[in-house]
Amino acid sequence: MSKKWRLTERTKMLLKLELAITIPALALMAFSIWNLKHIQRSQQIEAAIQRDFQDVLKIGEKKSWIRANEILDPVRKEFPGPDDNAGQIKAKLDHILATHPEFAFAVFYDKPSNTTISRMQMSRDPDFCASAQDGINDTLTWLPTEAASMAEGLRKMADEGDKSAESYGGWMNKGDQRIYINTFTFIPPGVPKDRTTIGILSFDQKYLQSTFFPEIMKEVLHSKAAMLRTDPNPPAMMIHSQHDSTPWVVSDNWEGTKGEVERPSTEVFHGIVWSIKYPETTIADISAHFLRYNYSILGALSLLMIGGIFLTYRNISREMNLARLKSDFVANVSHELRTPLALIRLYAETLELGRLNAKEKYQDYFRIIREESERLSALINNILDFSRIEAGRKEYEFKETDLPQLVRSTLDSYRFQIEQNGFAFEENICDDIPPVNVDREAIARSLLNLVNNALKYSKEKKYIGVSLYRANGSVKLEVQDHGIGIPVAEQDKIFEKFYRCGDPLVHNIKGSGLGLSLVRHIVRAHGGDVQVESEPDKGSKFTIALPIDSALRNSNAVA
Ligand code: ADP
Repeated sequence: MSKKWRLTERTKMLLKLELAITIPALALMAFSIWNLKHIQRSQQIEAAIQRDFQDVLKIGEKKSWIRANEILDPVRKEFPGPDDNAGQIKAKLDHILATHPEFAFAVFYDKPSNTTISRMQMSRDPDFCASAQDGINDTLTWLPTEAASMAEGLRKMADEGDKSAESYGGWMNKGDQRIYINTFTFIPPGVPKDRTTIGILSFDQKYLQSTFFPEIMKEVLHSKAAMLRTDPNPPAMMIHSQHDSTPWVVSDNWEGTKGEVERPSTEVFHGIVWSIKYPETTIADISAHFLRYNYSILGALSLLMIGGIFLTYRNISREMNLARLKSDFVANVSHELRTPLALIRLYAETLELGRLNAKEKYQDYFRIIREESERLSALINNILDFSRIEAGRKEYEFKETDLPQLVRSTLDSYRFQIEQNGFAFEENICDDIPPVNVDREAIARSLLNLVNNALKYSKEKKYIGVSLYRANGSVKLEVQDHGIGIPVAEQDKIFEKFYRCGDPLVHNIKGSGLGLSLVRHIVRAHGGDVQVESEPDKGSKFTIALPIDSALRNSNAVA
């Protein structure tokens, strides 16, 4: 009956646990795993970073166009017009180049008067001059044929309020090097609408490489778009030729050769490719790292959750066990109280009626009444002690005590009962023990509890041995039997309150499960400890060790 009750209670508890914690926890874990898998599949993180990178590159290109125009706009206004003669044109172009070192060369072309005048920066190194000359030569190859349509296109753009200059660019092989030729074409000021006159300015390649683009990169990388990802590792930028991926311009934090996202410049500075990446990592790494990070957080949370469920389960189980032990305890105690009371009443009534003839019978009856009332007192003392301990009110009265004498006198009142129950009783009390500070009643009760257990839990081999001796700064009090023994798995638990061994034999023996928990409490309050060595069917040995030094236990006087 009681087994069935336990089972249903446990099942009920498990069901409640499952409904209240386990199912929501598992659902949450499953959902998170699904969510992470889903992110991985659609590669949303990678796509988001790539989109960000594209935006940053687009901004780079836009800024280079704006910056080039900011430089060009005031210069265009100083450009010579069709009314200037050759000398004036040269002088104006030279003046522009002298005041604007960022340009490599300038060209003036007027179709009606067939004037083509080109000037380059003076007093520069031969390499510069050679490149500038190459640029001029290249420009002059297409200018006469393209000028008319170019002028028409520029006017149209200006009329529409669009850009006022057109950008061209490309790479030219020079020995084993590539040089970047760029031109900005525009219509000089004061040119009548139907006249084909073109002004051309070209940025110095070195200026672009060392000042113009690095500044733009810095601006872009510090702009909001690039900072959107509040990353401790900001992205790096690079510009290379459309023909190969050798870096031409790089931001300070660039390392390696290739970028992760690229964008060929289409509006301005044709022929260059903008490139961006995270230094020392790849987008795939970042997304893998993100997933790993999230999986590990999920793993840790899951572990915590499982731990929580396990702890809750264990606590509830423990509480249920305690509740069961308490109800067993009430049943056991009532039984233990009833038996001696019934005996006492029976023998007292018999005596009262005066029906006994033999004198020795009287003695027997008185002895039984005394023993039973002693058993009752012992039990009640145990229960009282236990309730005091539980309420934290148990106090010990330490007195200097001659332990051999205390043990002897305690056993004396029990010896008769032991021997009458057919036990071989052996006493080994060593007298070489200094006085020790103990609570006499508590120590005597501990010894009685142990002796009483030895009596109760022995079957055929009836033996009780009590020894008192000195060892390593402590006094040891041993109670040994050859009884039913205790399985190893239960040897720790027997000292817990209400605990009684699972062996069916034990359940036929009266007991409350309090004795050993009291013994342990008492001994610990004396600064000592109690140990058990036992083997099923062979017997048990309980050893109380009390320190001879009294300093420790005085601090534990009130428990
Ligand atoms: P009880 O009132 O049940 O004897 P105790 O706290 O004294 O309570 O003992 C707890 C349990 O430990 C007992 O129920 C018994 O199963 C086991 N036990 C204690 N002493 C012995 C012993 N000497 N031999 C075998 N088992 C013992």
